[in-house]
Formats: sequence, structure tokens, C-alpha cells
Amino acid sequence: MLFNTVLTITTFLIMEFISWFTHKYIMHGPLWNLHLDHHQVDKKKKLQKNDYFFLIFAIPSIMAIILGSMNSNYLLYIGIGIALYGFAYFIVHEIIIHQRIKIFRNSKSRYIRAIKRAHKVHHKNIDKEDGESFGMLLVPLKYFK
Ligand SMILES: [Zn+2]
Ligand SMILES: [Zn+2]
Repeated sequence: MLFNTVLTITTFLIMEFISWFTHKYIMHGPLWNLHLDHHQVDKKKKLQKNDYFFLIFAIPSIMAIILGSMNSNYLLYIGIGIALYGFAYFIVHEIIIHQRIKIFRNSKSRYIRAIKRAHKVHHKNIDKEDGESFGMLLVPLKYFK
């Protein structure tokens, strides 16, 4: 039980690194085509091509949950960790930061304000190159000031 919980939490934390890496080197790299409309948002469109990344990350999660349940092994807890990160991504990135659903508008939490500020800085740059601040949940301390 403890091992499973630790595995899920570790997977969640590793996902922050994977998403930072994917964002910096893949989304602002070969798959910029899919990420572009998240930096140059057309307010009339409800969905962005960038939303495909949500599906792309859902695949390993679903696979791990299915395989892990079938063989009752550790893959299940890795799958749950990825799914929880996806859920956090949806709440934090889509709702809290981008307000795609208009709730949690004015958080007073220092942490929430810091991650919002960091992501705003990321979005200041509308181009593929020279971005900064690619993380979601872990951001440099300077944004806490
Ligand atoms: Zn970006
Ligand atoms: Zn964003």
C-alpha cells in the first residue's frame, strides 16, 4: 500500500518534469504546430489544437491503468499518477490560469499567484523560440515575490 502510494506520488512529480521537458523541447520544437494556437489564441474558438496534448498524455495513462489492472501490478499506480497529473493540469492550466471555465478567479494564495505569474511570462512570448518558464506546478522562486 505504502509502496503504491509512493509510486503514484513519484509518478505525479516526474510528470511535472516530463511536461516541462515536452513543453520546452517538443511543443516549442517539432510539434509547435499543435502548440501555436495556445500562444496565439483565437478567442472565438472553444477548442485549441493544443488540446490534443491532453489526449496524447491520456494514452499512456489509460494503457498503464488497463495493463496494471489486468495483471494486478505496479503499472496501475503509475497510470493513476499520470491521470492525477492530467487532472491537475486541467484544473491549474485550463481553469485557474487560463480561465476557460470562469471559476476560481481571484485566488489570494501566494502559490497560485506565483504559478499564474510564471505562466503569464511564458505566454508573453507568442513565438516558438526564446521562451521562458515552461513548468506548471514548479516555478522559479522569483515569481513568489
Ligand atoms: Zn508554450
Ligand atoms: Zn498556457
